[in-house]
Amino acid sequence: MMEYKYERHRADKYRKEQVLPVLLAAAKHFAYVEFSLRDFISAKLGISRGGVDSAYGSWSEAMRALRIALRAQGIELAARSTKRISDDELFIEMERIWNELGQRPSRHEWEKSGSKYSFQPYKTRFGGWTKACLRFIEWRMGKPVVIEFQEIVKTPQKIVPTESLPRGPSDRLRLRVLARDGFRCVLCGHSPAIERGVVLHLDHIVPYSKGGRTTFDNLRTLCAACNQGRGNIEELAKGV
Ligand SMILES: [Zn+2]
Repeated sequence: MMEYKYERHRADKYRKEQVLPVLLAAAKHFAYVEFSLRDFISAKLGISRGGVDSAYGSWSEAMRALRIALRAQGIELAARSTKRISDDELFIEMERIWNELGQRPSRHEWEKSGSKYSFQPYKTRFGGWTKACLRFIEWRMGKPVVIEFQEIVKTPQKIVPTESLPRGPSDRLRLRVLARDGFRCVLCGHSPAIERGVVLHLDHIVPYSKGGRTTFDNLRTLCAACNQGRGNIEELAKGV
């Protein structure tokens, strides 16, 4: 017990050179919007209130030092009430990183990527990293990724694709299937994140019209081109 208390006490003594990098990391974590001491503590970046005080004497002094250090990098800490990064700004940055990597960035890859924003604003804005990826894909497509149902309409030979808009439980299902498939077509690998004009659907592997179910295992991500190709092959196979 004594030793623990001693270590804790020691750990609370920091020098400015040790605290400043953590404050800079915090600024990035909060997407360069002003943050309070309470925000800083809740971000759990490894330095306590006592640590900050031991280096700077007070929180306001620490913030002053942070602003000076940021200004040297050409960054101004935005006022919390006025500045909010727009969805577009978040997506444009995601587009840049996604294209640089050539695939969906994992959280870990995102943090290493040197992105303007940490993944924190994505997480809080969209309710999670994977959801943020889905919103980004839909932003690029200009419409939602839908689960496609192939139903026999009018003439029995004619298979007409119909679409279901995401709603309720299917929203979670879409997310899981897309995440599993890396937000790209499982046949050709094309993704709206990389190429404009690519449209993704969720396709039933065993067709819905043949009793295939709308489940995680029976859905896959296809681009519109591959989806159409598949439809044609199936019609040829049937000798229509
Ligand atoms: Zn494809």
